[in-house]
Amino acid sequence: MIDLHHVTKKYPNGIIALEDINLHIDKGEFIYLVGPSGAGKSTFIKLLNREIKASQGQIYVGDFDLVKMRGKQLPYLRRFLSIIYQDYKLLDNKTVYENVAYAMEVIEKPRKEVKQRTMEVLELVGLKSKERMYPRELSGGEKQRVSIGRAIVNTPRVIIADEPTGNLDPETSWGIMEIFEEINNQGTTVIMATHNSSIVNTLKHRVVALEGGRIIRDDERGEYGYEA
Ligand code: ADP
Ligand code: ADP
Repeated sequence: MIDLHHVTKKYPNGIIALEDINLHIDKGEFIYLVGPSGAGKSTFIKLLNREIKASQGQIYVGDFDLVKMRGKQLPYLRRFLSIIYQDYKLLDNKTVYENVAYAMEVIEKPRKEVKQRTMEVLELVGLKSKERMYPRELSGGEKQRVSIGRAIVNTPRVIIADEPTGNLDPETSWGIMEIFEEINNQGTTVIMATHNSSIVNTLKHRVVALEGGRIIRDDERGEYGYEA
C-alpha cells in the first residue's frame, strides 16, 4: 500500500532530513513513528502527503507514484491519504457539523450523502450532541475529535496523524486513541508520529524509529524506547 525505496530528502539549506529510507507498509497496518525532535518524522509525513518532493528515491502510495505524479492528481491523493495535526487546524467560523461536512462539500458530494455521512462520522467521534457548537466552545480533545472526523469523512485508506495527542492530557489522549483504534479496526491504515511513550507501550503496534534521518528500529509490537 505504501512503499519507499532509497528515499532521501535534502533541504535547500543542505540539511539531509531523511537518508536512504526503505519501508513497506501494508493495508490495515497501525504504525507508530517515533524518534527525537529533528529525526525526520515531519519530513516523512510531508513526503507521503506530497507537500514536498523527495530528492532521491521512489515513493508509492496506493496507485500513486509520488515522483511521477502530476499536480492535478493531488486532490485524489489527499482523499486517499488524510492528515491529522497536533493543532487541529479547524475552521473557526464553521460549526462542528460544518467543519466535517465541508470536506465532502468541496468535492461536491450530493447534499443527502453529505448529511448522512457527516452524522455517521460525528457519531463515531462522539460529537453528535455538539454538532452546532463552534471550535472556540470546545475542549482540546473535542477539537481533535472534529479534526479526526473531518479527516475520515471521505473514507481515506490511510490516516496520518502528526502528534495528535501532543496538546492533550493523558485521559483525553486515551479517548482519542480509542477512535484511532476503531478507524484502524475498520481497515484504514494508520501512521502516527508520537512522543507518547505510555500509549506506544500499552496499545501495541509496529514501531518505526527514526534518528538522524535514518530508520534505526522497525519492530512489530515494539516499544517507545526513549525516556519519556
Ligand atoms: P521531526 O519531525 O522528527 O522533529 P523534521 O522532519 O521536522 O523532524 O526535521 C528533520 C531535519 O530537517 C531537522 O534537522 C530540521 O531542522 C530539518 N528541516 C525540517 N524542515 C526543514 C526545512 N523546511 N528546511 C530546512 N531544514 C528543515
Ligand atoms: P435545508 O434545511 O435548507 O435543506 P440543511 O439543513 O441541509 O439545509 O443545511 C443547512 C445548513 O445547516 C448547512 O450549512 C449545513 O451544513 C448545516 N446542517 C445540515 N444538517 C445539519 C445538522 N444535522 N446539524 C447541524 N447542521 C446541519
